[in-house]
Amino acid sequence: MVLAVIERETDGTPSAASAEVLAAARDLAHRLDLPVAAVAVGEAGDLPEDLVKQGVSHLHLLRHELLADGGPACTGEALAQLVAARRPAAVLAASTTESTEAMAWAAAALGVPLATACTEIRPRPEGCDELWEVTRERSGGILLEDAALDAPVRLCTLSAGGRPTGETAAAAEVTVDVFVPELDAAVPRARRVERAPRAAGMTLATAPVVVSGGRGVGSAEGYAVLEELAGLVGGAVGCSRVATNNGWRPHADQVGLTGTRVHPDLYIACGISGATQHWVGCMGARSILAVNTDPEAPMMRRATWSVVGDVHEVLPAVIAEIRRRSGR
Ligand SMILES: Cc1cc2nc3c(=O)[nH]c(=O)nc-3n(C[C@H](O)[C@H](O)[C@H](O)COP(=O)(O)OP(=O)(O)OC[C@H]3O[C@@H](n4cnc5c(N)ncnc54)[C@H](O)[C@@H]3O)c2cc1C
Repeated sequence: MVLAVIERETDGTPSAASAEVLAAARDLAHRLDLPVAAVAVGEAGDLPEDLVKQGVSHLHLLRHELLADGGPACTGEALAQLVAARRPAAVLAASTTESTEAMAWAAAALGVPLATACTEIRPRPEGCDELWEVTRERSGGILLEDAALDAPVRLCTLSAGGRPTGETAAAAEVTVDVFVPELDAAVPRARRVERAPRAAGMTLATAPVVVSGGRGVGSAEGYAVLEELAGLVGGAVGCSRVATNNGWRPHADQVGLTGTRVHPDLYIACGISGATQHWVGCMGARSILAVNTDPEAPMMRRATWSVVGDVHEVLPAVIAEIRRRSGR
């Protein structure tokens, strides 16, 4: 079987990233002539009904009290035990921070490699001596690497974006199997102490316009003008890591290698130098408008349009002009 790791939203439904993982698992299973199975933590809820429409024939539910707030280490250990017991040909997960960490723990426990951020998986039929090959993103997607995967079970996380999702030929039924791993409460691990609900409506990842600020914004209060512009153009506010490190914005707003990758029609980079780790998060934008006092900043050279100037002078002028033209 090909096993898809399902991440769940707080209401128990599969995340958007999981829909892509399922689509990739279906494709891989089809090429290998194997069934598609899914694994999730917790109660079944509506998952079986959701998954049967996605061609999934088995749902493995990981159950243990430590899994509720035990973080990725516990999930990874539980996943490793499931894999050892059920022996799938491959395990696919999203390239989110949480799933990548859980898969890394699972790979370490199983003693097999983990191929992260795969854009393509080229399997070989079961029993064939040739190794599977993958193409994977390196350095946040700036490089693509072809690699051979030498392992009895192939653990891969998938780079986000671009895979068609949605329903497919439904499986006849989903068999639900509860798997209770043996987890040691004495081993110290990170514990989840708080779950912040995702903001309702538009998210950074889906916004058509992202107004993003960096060190040049100067303070938490300085983001008011970015909020105002985002509100006017129907966008979301993002930021660089300097802003999150300084406590000006929450990590959920961070764009970049260790934040969110955004793909808006327009990315407005305000007082952001354009370091590689930030660039990989916004390079998927269709167009970029950079505002910076330094005309030589990398973001200014790469942007579609560059405005040399102080964020706190340029943005109020832009806002005033939008208001004048729209009569708002
Ligand atoms: C492992 C690792 C992961 C990382 N992940 C991320 C990530 O996910 N996202 C991320 O953003 N960074 C990430 N970083 C940090 C990254 O390397 C940069 O340090 C960071 O992006 C710089 O943020 P910045 O552009 O806001 O600040 P700076 O590089 O300091 O740039 C500030 C810019 O603002 C301009 N400026 C100053 N005042 C004004 C003004 N009044 N008006 C207009 N412009 C002004 C300056 O000319 C300058 O270009 C990571 C680093 C590492 C090592």
